[in-house]
Amino acid sequence: MDHVQDDERTGADTAPTYDIQAYDIQAYDIQGYAGEEVTHAIDADPCADLHGDIDADWADSRDSATLEAPAVRRWRIAEGLLKLREQVNAKAPNRSKTSDGAIGDAAHATRNSDHNPWLVSGGLGIVTAVDITHDPAGGCDAGRLAEALRASRDPRIKYIISNKRIASAAPKGGVPGWTWRAYTGSNPHNKHCHISINPAAAQFDSKAPWQIDAAFGPAPESAGGEADAFAGIEAALKALGALEQDGAREASGDGVPLLVRLTAVRDAAEILLTRYAEAVRAPATDPDDTFEAVRPAFENVRGQYEALFASCTVNPARAGEVAWYRTMLLRGRPRYEEAAAKSGVPWWFIAIIHGMEASFNFQGHLHNGDPLARRTVQVPRGRPPVWNPPSDWISSALDALQIEGFAGIRDWGVARALYSWEAYNGWGYRRAGVGIPSPYLWSFSNHHKKGKFVADGHYDPNAISKQCGTAMMLKALVAKGDVTF
Ligand SMILES: [Zn+2]
Repeated sequence: MDHVQDDERTGADTAPTYDIQAYDIQAYDIQGYAGEEVTHAIDADPCADLHGDIDADWADSRDSATLEAPAVRRWRIAEGLLKLREQVNAKAPNRSKTSDGAIGDAAHATRNSDHNPWLVSGGLGIVTAVDITHDPAGGCDAGRLAEALRASRDPRIKYIISNKRIASAAPKGGVPGWTWRAYTGSNPHNKHCHISINPAAAQFDSKAPWQIDAAFGPAPESAGGEADAFAGIEAALKALGALEQDGAREASGDGVPLLVRLTAVRDAAEILLTRYAEAVRAPATDPDDTFEAVRPAFENVRGQYEALFASCTVNPARAGEVAWYRTMLLRGRPRYEEAAAKSGVPWWFIAIIHGMEASFNFQGHLHNGDPLARRTVQVPRGRPPVWNPPSDWISSALDALQIEGFAGIRDWGVARALYSWEAYNGWGYRRAGVGIPSPYLWSFSNHHKKGKFVADGHYDPNAISKQCGTAMMLKALVAKGDVTF
């Protein structure tokens, strides 16, 4: 888009007189569009982002300014929005700006949109909305940006639209302010997010920093099946709340003993723990053994494992969590020792599998965390084959160690343990096109940045593991002298 120089327009400009220098910003002829370094126009091109704004409430928004008048010939963007865009550009310097926009074109001007310079201040039309391109690969996820802005409750925000949702500062139609509602405008806003700024004089030109840090850097959660699983946990939490309420109601009537109520709450918590284990458990990298072909011979990778283990350090941001994992490994040690004595597998190897697969829950099978009350239902399914509930955790653990082949191993050096854990989760991280140290081992260390199987056989190069890796648990034990080699 051509940059229209202000000085080239001076002769033809019949707009009211004012001193542009007083604003110390660029202003543009009403028919001209800002240069690429600012934004381009929102035009009526088929692939552009023309959209009306259902929330643009003209009557309420006039404030001290006047409604758009034909006499307004020149415009500028509210400074608060320029500040926002400057911060976004600093966070994602290489982001695409193809769906960025500020001012509406002539067709747009007839619509009820904050992209029109309807707000007039100092003789200039003020554009009080910008669109910011959705370009997650370029470092700017517009959905996350919209969510960070919503969560910030910045008083400058009038409303935000992103991905078929809108959140307004003010309550609308019985929905509280700052709450996402469905947005049914013709443009789904999945290529950009839209931010309208509060037209109050003290707000739209405020250059205070925006709180958008949460929108950049590693995503807090990986997408896909895990998110669905957590939705299930949330539903269970709600159920737990309802259970407590029911208990309270009954208690006030029939006087249910506290012990009965506490036991019910504990049982509900066990269910939650089981579902948690199911949600965070690392998916198999090769459910169909597709990548089993890349399984390296142990002797060929022994040195690699030893080098990685020697050079791994705990990600400082995860140090507290790693310490907690070590505490949990030691807490269950008597039972791990018992399983070790009966299987020949070291207690710490069993303990770490227990953390990875069953979230340290002794009410769950070692295989996969499924409840001990019956045989496993997840893969490996139907274990142990002989099971008479309520049988104990130890006999289930022995079955798991047996079927995985761990019970027959004699050499339990560091490299063998790491090799066994990687084999257990799968060899998918070694396949062509992935090629990273497995986060099943190295998560929470300097050897894991990003990249993770988020569902069985499905690799996401940007997902980050939230589970402490097996090697890092072992490293924590070794560092404190709990285990020596
Ligand atoms: Zn917009």
